Amino acid sequence: MRTSELFHRKTVFSFEIFPPKKTASVATVYHTLSELRGLSPDFISVTYGAAGRGSNLTVKIASDVKSRYGIESVAHLPCLYLTKAEVLETLRDLKKNGIENILALRGDVSPDAAPKTDFRHASDLVAFIREHGSFNIIGACYPEGHPEAGGIAEDIRNLKTKVDAGTDQLISQLFFDNDFFYAFLERARAAGIHVPVQAGIMPVTNKKQIERMAALCGAALPKKFRRAMEKYENDPTAMRDAGIAYAIDQIVDLIARGVDGIHLYTMNNSYVAAKISGAVASLLQTDKITA
Ligand code: FAD
Repeated sequence: MRTSELFHRKTVFSFEIFPPKKTASVATVYHTLSELRGLSPDFISVTYGAAGRGSNLTVKIASDVKSRYGIESVAHLPCLYLTKAEVLETLRDLKKNGIENILALRGDVSPDAAPKTDFRHASDLVAFIREHGSFNIIGACYPEGHPEAGGIAEDIRNLKTKVDAGTDQLISQLFFDNDFFYAFLERARAAGIHVPVQAGIMPVTNKKQIERMAALCGAALPKKFRRAMEKYENDPTAMRDAGIAYAIDQIVDLIARGVDGIHLYTMNNSYVAAKISGAVASLLQTDKITA
């Protein structure tokens, strides 16, 4: 199923998982998946290692999400380190494995390798997929602006190009202050971007994770969030529970404001995903179709 078809029916609730770094640990992801299955997400997306690492695992796991676990799947595909021929091969592989949804990404520049030159922006990949296959195409968006863009206005102009190239839906970068998301959405709609936008929520469960995430994506850390994290930084259980509670609080507010969907960055932690899913399940059941 094309995941973009879900939005007119419901508030979409999805998970993101990543393939383990070591092939030997692949079994752990299947253990996580058996637990996530019970939470009935609308789809699960599978990340793809930066600089082209891990493509085979992404396709394999995304394929298993669908065929073994009966959950709709999305394969991430960053293009900066791929040639057109390699993308064509991946598209064939995805088709063969019954995967209908691609998160089309540029990817980050690695300090260890020069990018290939076939695709410069995610919008190039979106146009290429449109031309060469029949997939539901998802794009990334940035409520606080992409760090390389010269401000949010420029980033939204580039996002419009990506949507016009054939993007069917968007998933946002993580954020901890919902006001950034609402302001972004207003600007995106005013710029003529009308595809569904899912809010990306990352439950923060340890201090290292916050530092890494904030450095990577530049998300602002609100005072309320910092206070809780500082108070519990030496108590792993309390820190985890505070992170879960913070994410639930964000999601409740987003659903109350009529968000198109929530995409939970699970970090392969099924305990955290279960706590959050359980807390918001009844809010998600409200059917958007009024009879
Ligand atoms: P783009 O849409 O190409 O944007 C990147 C930058 O270029 C922005 O500053 C934009 O304003 C600018 N830009 C875009 N188009 C143009 C244009 N035509 N002219 C000039 N400037 C332009 N990375 C991975 O490696 N693997 C993953 O699995 C992965 N999953 C992700 C999932 C989500 C939901 C998100 C939000 C990010 C994910 N990333 C992943 C990270 C992503 O690859 C990086 O954020 C990357 O830096 C940007 O990718 P993009 O697809 O948004 O790029």
